[in-house]
Amino acid sequence: MSGILYLVATPIGNLGDFSPRAVETLLNADFIAAEDTRVTLKLLNHFGIKKPLISYFEHNRAQSGEKIIERLRNGENVALVSDAGMPAISDPGEDLVRLCAREGITVCCTPGPCAAVSALAVSGLPTQRFTFEGFINNSGKNRAEHLESLQNEKRTMIIYEAPHKLIGTLTDLKDTFGGDRELSLCREITKIYEEVIRTTIDGALEHYSKIPPRGEYVLVVKGKEETAEPEMTLEEALSRVDFYRSEGKSLKQSAKLASEDTGYSKNELYNAAVGKA
Ligand code: SAM
Repeated sequence: MSGILYLVATPIGNLGDFSPRAVETLLNADFIAAEDTRVTLKLLNHFGIKKPLISYFEHNRAQSGEKIIERLRNGENVALVSDAGMPAISDPGEDLVRLCAREGITVCCTPGPCAAVSALAVSGLPTQRFTFEGFINNSGKNRAEHLESLQNEKRTMIIYEAPHKLIGTLTDLKDTFGGDRELSLCREITKIYEEVIRTTIDGALEHYSKIPPRGEYVLVVKGKEETAEPEMTLEEALSRVDFYRSEGKSLKQSAKLASEDTGYSKNELYNAAVGKA
């Protein structure tokens, strides 16, 4: 019988966030596949865990993935960890999970810290519907396409960024959304210098023109505001104004009530009605 691939989330800054179940999962695994074995070794030492480690990272994932699958097929259980946070989320793991799914190998999740979800939760922006963009593409054409695809996005957007690229990305976001778009910059989550700056893109650019960006960032950008598209012609909307007028209401009151019914602004209806009279 095949073994199980366990995806084990690790702390994104504060070791206190490593769950008892995560420790138990590592203790029970036959071996651990890690993005950077040196980083993981520190975590294992802190929790007194001794386990064989192999490396599984971006540039050896095809080769290493095959070996891991082979060992899973032979009945070994493997725990996959990344340097920080949830494996497979802007981190190695996605391919390995896909291979397991194809092979009918069970994949279990030991959930825990994830910078994206933590940042969204503290952002103060709408959380009901959101998109995860990871890192905005780096190369010219792909980057332009990625940004363009977000232009009309109404959902809250979550973006990862490195400090040395923050100002460049904020500048591109300004070109995409305009400087007055709201965003939250969530920095160093769970660490000593944890900070959430709730501002606009212009506000963020001004802030970081004075203070150089430091640490790890998640940008949470508000989606495009819904604009109430008028669903009827102006003529039809004006007939609503006429209706309220016929009930004896003032023009101002009628324009206000008709505006609520139709989606046209009360000023537009008022002025059009005055012009018509
Ligand atoms: N898999 C990880 C997760 O679940 O959050 C994400 C890994 S991705 C390679 C690293 C990026 O996550 C960083 O560049 C930063 O954007 C974000 N990040 C990770 N830890 C963070 C923290 N403590 N505070 C803010 N952002 C963080």
